[in-house]
Amino acid sequence: MLVAVDLDDVLADLISCLIRTHEEIVGEQLERSQATSWDVFPPAVHDHVRYEGGYGTLLPLPYAREFLGWLRERHTVHIVTYRGAHAQQVTENWLAQHVDGRFDGLHLTGGGKVDACRELGADLIVDDSYNQIPAVTDALQIPGILIDTPMNQHIQESALVRRARGLRQARRVIEDLQREDRLA
Ligand SMILES: [Mg+2]
Repeated sequence: MLVAVDLDDVLADLISCLIRTHEEIVGEQLERSQATSWDVFPPAVHDHVRYEGGYGTLLPLPYAREFLGWLRERHTVHIVTYRGAHAQQVTENWLAQHVDGRFDGLHLTGGGKVDACRELGADLIVDDSYNQIPAVTDALQIPGILIDTPMNQHIQESALVRRARGLRQARRVIEDLQREDRLA
């Protein structure tokens, strides 16, 4: 099966970087639990992270490298990120440094992921974004694993959408889905 794995807040800790940047630029400390929407952060904070080198500073989330290693031994793994084409080099460098080639392709969609996932023939999506899940799972009728963040608490689990608190749990959800014969 082909798995589309998101990067920000799935493999890399973007929210922590947004919080740090928010403190630097706005001068206001936010708790992680307050990051309930992208709009909590003003455009200047997002722009700073996107265009001023912030992506290169992200820390990997726990089990990111191990998760991709485990997944890729069994399946084809494509990193599908919302980041724009301008971030290609910094993204490639980050992946080389932190997950060391444990994937088969990298796609910067610069927006919604339905078309990219359809073109790839994705059988499963692992993502944290309320803009991608359930859009991709509904459009392609494939299962999705929603990585829990403060921003996506309003997304309901469904026949296609399962929530996982981090990548260790995501691995268990994939194993469950396979046992239930719900994966390609
Ligand atoms: Mg994400």
